Amino acid sequence: MSQALSDLCVQCGLCCNGSLFDFVAISESEASACQDMGLAVVEKAGRLGLRLRCGALQGATCTKYEVRPSGCRSFVCALGKQLVAGTVTAEAALAVVRDAQARVLALGAKLDPPRTTDVMTHVRVALASPLPPYDDAWMAEARATQRFLTETFHGWS
Ligand code: SF4
Ligand code: SF4
Repeated sequence: MSQALSDLCVQCGLCCNGSLFDFVAISESEASACQDMGLAVVEKAGRLGLRLRCGALQGATCTKYEVRPSGCRSFVCALGKQLVAGTVTAEAALAVVRDAQARVLALGAKLDPPRTTDVMTHVRVALASPLPPYDDAWMAEARATQRFLTETFHGWS
């Protein structure tokens, strides 16, 4: 991993804190290593993995960075790829991350009860609910934030 990306990731954490994904798949051998490290291993659609927000995350930093599973190791978000390719500067990439974090926190502040963690997990549940649990303005903001995260970090729309 490039130093520029490393520097960005330790200020971001969005791919580990549940904002982008709710699960990262791991192998059986990684599962026992994760359990030995005190991380809860879950099963989803027949696959072993870590639920995100990950228990190894402290702030925006992975406390198991040197021994993180291969799925974590190989993932680079779309913004990170642009940074590595030099099509976005470190300052611009950090500004995008800060914007994303602020959008997620703004949504979390309007949840009932308000949340500062696991915000997008609750947002995904709200958006999938057949009976919208929040008003139209909140649902529109939630959809816009999810679209922004998808386009910016997943790299598809
Ligand atoms: S979302 Fe991208 S920039 Fe943020 S921690 Fe993950 S790989 Fe790094
Ligand atoms: S093990 Fe580390 S890199 Fe992997 S999801 Fe958890 S915090 Fe992120």
